Amino acid sequence: MKYDVIIIGAGPGGIFSAYELMQKKPELKVAVFEAGNRLEKRHCPIDGKKVKSCINCKTCAIMNGFGGAGAFSDGKYNITNDFGGTLYEYIGRDKALELMRYVDQINVSHGGEGTKMFSTAGTEFKKICIQNGLKLLDASVRHLGTDINYVVLENIYADLKDKVDFYFNTPVQSLQILPEGYRVVYDGGAADCRKCIASVGRSGSKWMERVCRELSIGTKSNRVDLGVRVELPAVVFSHLTDELYESKIVYRTKKFEDNVRTFCMNPCGIVVNENTNGIVTVNGHSFEDPSKKTENTNFALLVAKHFSEPFKDSNGYGESIARLSNMLGGGVIVQRFGDLERGRRSTQARIEEGLVRPTLAATPGDLSLVLPKRILDGIIEMIYALDKIAPGTANDDTLLYGVEVKFYNMEVELDNNLETRQKGLFIIGDGSGVTHSLSHASASGVYVADHIAQQWVNQE
Ligand SMILES: Cc1cc2nc3c(=O)[nH]c(=O)nc-3n(C[C@H](O)[C@H](O)[C@H](O)COP(=O)(O)OP(=O)(O)OC[C@H]3O[C@@H](n4cnc5c(N)ncnc54)[C@H](O)[C@@H]3O)c2cc1C
Repeated sequence: MKYDVIIIGAGPGGIFSAYELMQKKPELKVAVFEAGNRLEKRHCPIDGKKVKSCINCKTCAIMNGFGGAGAFSDGKYNITNDFGGTLYEYIGRDKALELMRYVDQINVSHGGEGTKMFSTAGTEFKKICIQNGLKLLDASVRHLGTDINYVVLENIYADLKDKVDFYFNTPVQSLQILPEGYRVVYDGGAADCRKCIASVGRSGSKWMERVCRELSIGTKSNRVDLGVRVELPAVVFSHLTDELYESKIVYRTKKFEDNVRTFCMNPCGIVVNENTNGIVTVNGHSFEDPSKKTENTNFALLVAKHFSEPFKDSNGYGESIARLSNMLGGGVIVQRFGDLERGRRSTQARIEEGLVRPTLAATPGDLSLVLPKRILDGIIEMIYALDKIAPGTANDDTLLYGVEVKFYNMEVELDNNLETRQKGLFIIGDGSGVTHSLSHASASGVYVADHIAQQWVNQE
């Protein structure tokens, strides 16, 4: 099999690369190799009844398959350089924003037309946050919601399926350098291409590290974010979520001067399990459909940790802490804030007596036995800081799920075209360590596809 371009991974990065190549150079022969299933076959077996927690499937239906890790996400496309990645360091701030807006247009024209764009521009909450020692970051956010996000993906796939060859359930094992391109090796076969785009996301982090080692491509360690997911009655945050949908708020702790930030806010949403390389952590999403809305809002509180010398493995540190919580709780642990403050574990009875009904069946336990003191102290400080702008955040019955870990891939050595030192091999999206959001990953795909299409035009 011979292709002009092979894309590895069908997450937002891979999908938008394929989409843009078909816009700019429809005559190119393009294939996408994806470890997981096609969209309609992605089903997580956890049903809350027969299967209550993660059973470590061969490929995780939540993380792998068409749509990537974002397929069942809340579909929040943040248009900003303030968070979500450092793409702007490679392509410039204006270009990064332009591409994120372009991605938004494509989403809107593929089923997202009825959805709302929120913005922090001109909001009074900036002032209220500053007055209370908090900083609200600038962003515009398109909230597709899990349901519309799915429709958009379906429509984009319908657009692409006759123009691009998709190989599902085909994890790429290795990449070999050929005199004029690359050989993509998978179980039982291989395909050759002139140019290759790797967009393997967080779930492909170990694979990416190995490929970089084998092809002598430099990497450097990235940070890991650790914390908890907070769940509370939606009314506590409704004044913020009604206007901004998601607010990214940063707090600098008094005790250690660490930054704690809110992340992935899901108004009237649900808390979910996430499986990364066999470790069960927590995440959240929400639906656009009013009938699926819950009475709770959830968001993460995270502290970033970056190790360099002599210990470099920031992700390994995060994994060990997540494993500890899995060891104690058999999965995710849930604790009432009041119990944490009183130094006692939560029990099923205490959770049931509380006023906040959990949306995830997690094991009641004690997060102070899992999270390092420095991180936990920072989270507790931030909960009290948030309580000033959203009274009720520090109520006893507020639920904390742990642990939430945001793993970041090793940062791959790339030039400003996101090309490696091996010419014709591009690494994009979360797998490159450059992005960690839907809009940045998608924009990186468009950027590289435009570059490749231009290279082809120049050669003609
Ligand atoms: C539950 C959840 C909710 C989220 N919510 C949001 C949100 O609201 N907003 C936001 O901005 N971000 C969100 N994110 C993060 C967002 O999904 C990612 O940043 C984004 O999907 C990254 O896109 P990507 O294409 O780089 O990688 P991914 O989406 O991870 O896609 C990579 C794909 O590559 C495939 N792959 C990996 N290795 C191989 C291999 N060797 N061979 C073939 N295929 C391979 C994987 O199966 C996967 O499908 C969420 C993530 C999760 C898990």
